[in-house]
Amino acid sequence: MNNSTSVLQSAPRISMKRRRHSLAMATMIATFISVSAWAQVLLVEDGKAHAVVVTADAPTETAQYAARELVWHVEQATGVQLERVAESSAPSAPHTRVYIGDTDTARRNGIDPEQLPREAYLLRSVGNDLFIVGQEDDGDPLREENPHVGTLFGVYEFLESVLGVRWLWPGELGTYIPKTNTITLWSINELGAPCLRFRGLYWGRMRAIAEDRAALEPEDARFGFDPDVAKQYADALRVLLRRNRMGGMDAKPPTGHTFAGWWHEYGEEHPEWFMMRRDGVRGRLDPDERHVDICVTNEELQKFILSQWDGGPILRLGAVDRPGRCYCDECRAWDGPQPEEIPWFARRVYETDRRAQEAFAGATSDRYARFWKTMQEKAEQRNPDVMISASFLFESEFPAPTTDIQLNNRIYAEYVQWQDPHLRYFPVPDEAFEWLKEQWLGWRRAGIRMGYRPNYLHDGYVLPHFETRQSGEFFKFAAEHGMEGAVFDSLTGQWATQGLRLYMHLRLMAKPHLDIDDIRNEYFAAFGPAADAMERYFDYWEDYAFEHLLRIIEVFWERGWRYSMYARYAHEAFPLESFAPAEPMLEEAREITAIADAPEYEARVRFIQTGFEHARMAVRMAALFDEAGEVPEDRMTKAKDAFRNLVDFRKAHQHLFFSDLQWVTNFWERPRWNVEPLLDALE
Ligand SMILES: [Zn+2]
Repeated sequence: MNNSTSVLQSAPRISMKRRRHSLAMATMIATFISVSAWAQVLLVEDGKAHAVVVTADAPTETAQYAARELVWHVEQATGVQLERVAESSAPSAPHTRVYIGDTDTARRNGIDPEQLPREAYLLRSVGNDLFIVGQEDDGDPLREENPHVGTLFGVYEFLESVLGVRWLWPGELGTYIPKTNTITLWSINELGAPCLRFRGLYWGRMRAIAEDRAALEPEDARFGFDPDVAKQYADALRVLLRRNRMGGMDAKPPTGHTFAGWWHEYGEEHPEWFMMRRDGVRGRLDPDERHVDICVTNEELQKFILSQWDGGPILRLGAVDRPGRCYCDECRAWDGPQPEEIPWFARRVYETDRRAQEAFAGATSDRYARFWKTMQEKAEQRNPDVMISASFLFESEFPAPTTDIQLNNRIYAEYVQWQDPHLRYFPVPDEAFEWLKEQWLGWRRAGIRMGYRPNYLHDGYVLPHFETRQSGEFFKFAAEHGMEGAVFDSLTGQWATQGLRLYMHLRLMAKPHLDIDDIRNEYFAAFGPAADAMERYFDYWEDYAFEHLLRIIEVFWERGWRYSMYARYAHEAFPLESFAPAEPMLEEAREITAIADAPEYEARVRFIQTGFEHARMAVRMAALFDEAGEVPEDRMTKAKDAFRNLVDFRKAHQHLFFSDLQWVTNFWERPRWNVEPLLDALE
């Protein structure tokens, strides 16, 4: 036995208890770590290299990238750069050879990547050597649709569990790598894979920039990211997401609002295929509306839908993106009983004034469940293996069925809480939280396959408006009750104000069995000696979100969609006074880290301070616009000063990636603030 401390044994967050827990997850195939007295994997000891990193003579893109990731992180942790060699020139002498990916040596030792499951990785020691192997190919290892990245995921698992690396936010400052002078482990034989089949945070615009398919809008560059910084951010974001094992998107069943636009295409010839209004007329009151519900009981329409289907593996039947459904007698006969008493937090699920005039306003979950099943039976005559993509449990189909209709695991749908503002964004009232869980369970009992696709990450603008307790608990609950995968709309990238919640989501998607408190503590640990002070700071804002939950709902109630209106009313949701108690908390944290042995802790506190200051400036700015988003003449001078300060601040700090300023300007501010009269302040 070697005397040097095993990092694996001493790493504080790798408890054996948690490893056993992970065994229970369906796709965790086998995990065991044993101690053997005669062999030791040794990468670095007392600051000296004892290993080389070996790849095949002609390695795949994925293996090369995985090897670079390993070498870079080991160097950051120890200051030692491990040599990379091709297999045929691998020395026989060094203590440990770390074989990355598919190699002849791995195959001679019985490790065949093709035998490993999708996205899986094997970490196995043989003598003093270590093999990190998974499926791999020459596809782009950073592409979320590429599942042949087991080798890369194996490297990340090694870095996470053996070195204690955590990837908190984009860029080097957000990469937490504990310093050590020794990396060693006794024996390992671990086969693992992500628990969820697909894991994603939609980041379409930034992704397009990362993949060189799009560039920044010039209008955004005026007061947000400069184009080159937007590109750097996009690249760093792509790396962060993959390090946290986002991906598997090739396995996500397709979803969408299948019948949107059908009214304009077929409504004139076949009005009877579409929703009947309460006045007996077919179609919506608004003639331009694309989202006109169909009359699901119409058998001619059912026949037509099947004639449009290619007979392939998936038949899509996603309802339109508007509440209110067909009022005809046949459709209503398919509905289940409506609740005797509508819960106060879910009124808009069942009733709105507009819908009450226009269409059936209740829950139509049973109606659609029967439609999906009917269509499935008909489609199976052509393709017995067909899967129905019902798309979304959303709007009128959100509540669980109230009849005992039984569906099956060849029907897939994604759960999207929305409908009532009390359900839309976490935090929600406690009763609403329990109700949300009941709806998930009810749909599970009906027997369908389920994904999770909420919209609540849209919330909060640049403000420290977030929570971790409910969203974390709900995610874990869904994972324990059949969630196949999760995709969130959208990643708004407010890392310095909402980063704790974003990090929690990244962690839970990779490992849903983790404890919320443990994840939070990982995040706070990146602030070194200021961990406790930072926890108090984030708790202050999380408590604020819970305490002001109903008031903030009220701020936006009659003013349109909160997620898109936030920049207009930010000062009402988070008045300047709310910032005052939080400021000294951050300053206390900064003072603690100023005397720490590593400068990175203070730099991370300053990162959070940047988000704080930016949020406060945005609130000051928002307060200067009127209800219509214009600056009144008497506030013009003040507004120009505030705008110049805000833009100067952004330009000075954009390289930190504290905020996705492209999203801020393009999605939140330009649509809600008329900044044209202010632009001369920037010259
Ligand atoms: Zn109907």
